[in-house]
Amino acid sequence: MGSRVRGLFGRIGGLALRSLSEARRDVLAVVPGLPVVSVGLLEASGLVLAQPVVAPHDVPPFSNSAMDGYAVRAEDVQDAPVVLEVIEDLPAGYVASFSVRPGTATKIMTGAPIPGGADAVVPVEDTQQQDDRVSIGSAVGAGANVRAAGGDVGAGTRVFEAGERLGAAHLGVLASLGVSAPTVRQRPRVAILSTGDEVMDPAVVELQPGQIRDSNRVVLNSLLQEFGAEVLDLGIVRDDADLLRATLDEAAGRADVIITSGGVSMGEYDLVKKVLSDLGEIDFWQVAMQPGKPFAFGLLKGTPFFGLPGNPVSVMVAFEQFARPALLHMMGATNLFRPRVPGRLLQSIDTNLEKVVFLRVRAALDETGRWVAELSGGQLSNMLSAMAYGNAFAVSPVGTGTIAVGDEVELEMFAWPETRTKAEVLDG
Ligand code: AMP
Ligand code: MG
Repeated sequence: MGSRVRGLFGRIGGLALRSLSEARRDVLAVVPGLPVVSVGLLEASGLVLAQPVVAPHDVPPFSNSAMDGYAVRAEDVQDAPVVLEVIEDLPAGYVASFSVRPGTATKIMTGAPIPGGADAVVPVEDTQQQDDRVSIGSAVGAGANVRAAGGDVGAGTRVFEAGERLGAAHLGVLASLGVSAPTVRQRPRVAILSTGDEVMDPAVVELQPGQIRDSNRVVLNSLLQEFGAEVLDLGIVRDDADLLRATLDEAAGRADVIITSGGVSMGEYDLVKKVLSDLGEIDFWQVAMQPGKPFAFGLLKGTPFFGLPGNPVSVMVAFEQFARPALLHMMGATNLFRPRVPGRLLQSIDTNLEKVVFLRVRAALDETGRWVAELSGGQLSNMLSAMAYGNAFAVSPVGTGTIAVGDEVELEMFAWPETRTKAEVLDG
């Protein structure tokens, strides 16, 4: 592969063809970790722990009832039906005033602490109370319907490791532990911009001949927001070297990462390439992948820069293969890549022998519970609708050339959307 540093900064403007894995390694080796901060729980949603979390106390913090019913001594009810004296009525949030002695029971609600002396709860359905007497209909063993202190998380356990991404359940566990300001890596602020004289704001009412609407920026914005980045939208920049230089300069000062689309190929007006070649900090690569080549990467005044191609599908594929894992790595995440499942293609297709090809497919489970996939639309790199109709990339590795009907492929799931309609549920 050659020296990483030379590969990145030595051959300015050079167009080495490199493998996807090589390029990815180079990107991940260079991107810096974001600063470590403590933030409130809600602000931490989607961010990554920078330190392990050790439980300061048990969860639940005390042993409590799993049911509405009667707290008893299990040995008192072995010969049920039996009648016990009800000594107290204990809602959740209160502590018993009395211990459960032989022949007595405490009426207890779900979540209330188990009174001293009691070691089991008889569900209310198996009882019948009259005044201060309760008839217990069936025997229970010691521990029945009792949730032990620390049964979920024991005090002193390492609950989460550094590198864990905080989802809803993680935040709930932290809340239950009283960890109200977890130590995470800062939310990345990502500057995005589109380039090209033909590219117009999507809201423009009437396109002039030769113009197209800017789809890349809204795609990038949405992809970034989906995993919790803060987006700095710098709009559309005309094919004007000075304007582009000034905008990139500003972006480098304000963002943790810069992502552009367009202007990185060999054309006369591919100004991202021209401007950044002058600055001498960015490398331009031909990556052996389809779609997604060409691609620019480097540090612009220390800020990671991803120069994605202009074609919308290339943007999404290059984002998925480079920017997303790099951002997750900067955020401190241990796991960086979308899940892949093995599946079979239901069509035959010729692919590029020399490249990793990411085919846009619709993947689903067949009647036997195995993943199968069909092309979700046209496979040219401008045909974005195939991404919208699809949910996975069928990955055709270098050296494949042809995939025949029924061949096994890896399906990289870029969306895992909801299934089953209301009608199906009502019928089912
Ligand atoms: P470029 O890499 O700038 O030569 O662009 C390659 C192709 O992508 C051209 O057909 C452009 O018109 C198209 N393209 C560039 N930017 C965008 C954008 N923001 N939205 C949609 N298509 C674009
Ligand atoms: Mg262009």
